[in-house]
Amino acid sequence: MAGDTSLLVLVVAPTGADGANIGAVLKTAKWPTRVCRTLDEAAGKFSTRVGVFVVTEEALIRNEHLQLASELHAQPAWSEVPVVLLASSASMPHWATEASKSLGGRTLVTLVARPCSAATLVAAVDAALQVRRRQYHLRDLLVERETLMASLEERVRERTAKLQELVAELESFSYSVSHDLRAPLRVMAGYAQVVLTDFRRTLVPEVEHYLERIARSAERMDRLTQDVLAYTRLSRGDIQLDVVDLAATVNEIIEQYPDLTSSRNSILVRQPLGRVVAHGPSLAQAISNLVENALKFGRPKVPVKISISARRRGNRVRISVKDNGVGIAPEHRRKIFQIFERVANHAVPGTGIGLAIVKKAAERMGGTVGVKSRPGAGSEFWIELARGR
Ligand code: ADP
Repeated sequence: MAGDTSLLVLVVAPTGADGANIGAVLKTAKWPTRVCRTLDEAAGKFSTRVGVFVVTEEALIRNEHLQLASELHAQPAWSEVPVVLLASSASMPHWATEASKSLGGRTLVTLVARPCSAATLVAAVDAALQVRRRQYHLRDLLVERETLMASLEERVRERTAKLQELVAELESFSYSVSHDLRAPLRVMAGYAQVVLTDFRRTLVPEVEHYLERIARSAERMDRLTQDVLAYTRLSRGDIQLDVVDLAATVNEIIEQYPDLTSSRNSILVRQPLGRVVAHGPSLAQAISNLVENALKFGRPKVPVKISISARRRGNRVRISVKDNGVGIAPEHRRKIFQIFERVANHAVPGTGIGLAIVKKAAERMGGTVGVKSRPGAGSEFWIELARGR
């Protein structure tokens, strides 16, 4: 293509009027052309705006190409300035293997046998310039992509920061609401209890019944606010991870549940449990919630059997709490870990926050949770954490 105004054609021809003649031919195609006598001189003029080198073999024979070779080698990844090498027919086989090596390897060399017509030279340079233009196009695309990626990353960063701020605000709001709700609730429950115990004889049965309902609702609401507080407390601030002994944690939990050691129900702890990297209080809360659920969701008239075990999985440990209870249908297994999600069974008290706390606690400790279950045949909940050494 004639008339390219931006790309420079650099001619290197050391002997006689060679340079002037080649320059004259190229000027007919209206390419900006500069003629140099040596490769070193051409190296001084090297820039990314150079479209093509037209080099005569005499320039390479002089062995002056080190500076140019290093310039060519230092080009950016997208750039490979093409070289049109003019050589005699006799030396063609030699340059076919040597030219690229002499010029540092990072070049596309087109060999043109001399003597050649002006049209052949123009065609060879034109083809090389087209290759070079495609390289610029590629560079522009790369720059465009990088700019786009950078702006996308920036937008993701900004949005994540905004979301985190929003979540933190919401958490702190629900924390203070739950906290402030508890005092008036306790007052309500307290007065209802006072009337029920101190004035029971004077109460008609209907009033007594209503007061009992008020007390029960206040109690339930208190439980709900406690659970929300426990959940939001888990989401707030940093937690310190330590190596925690699982056997000690499990023993402490078992002591808190007299129902577990009754003659009807039983719990089996499969030793050894080993150690995990965890936040002690959060881990205790999570395992305790799982044990409490295993007790709550037993099958009618069937003694509850719980087994707690821990299994190594590479550098992690999977702690399992298994029961023989009602089990969970497959369609409910994912959603029960979400806050306030319960599978309808109004006979069993609960707030729908217990498993959300287990999940949040595990995540805060860098772990995961899951469940395996067969409806009617029990469930196995697990928490996986890093192994403690
Ligand atoms: P809650 O126990 O207050 O209902 P959770 O978040 O602890 O809330 O549990 C959510 C739901 O998951 C429960 O309502 C129950 O349907 C189901 N679930 C939890 N643990 C068990 C279990 N061990 N066996 C059967 N179902 C369970």
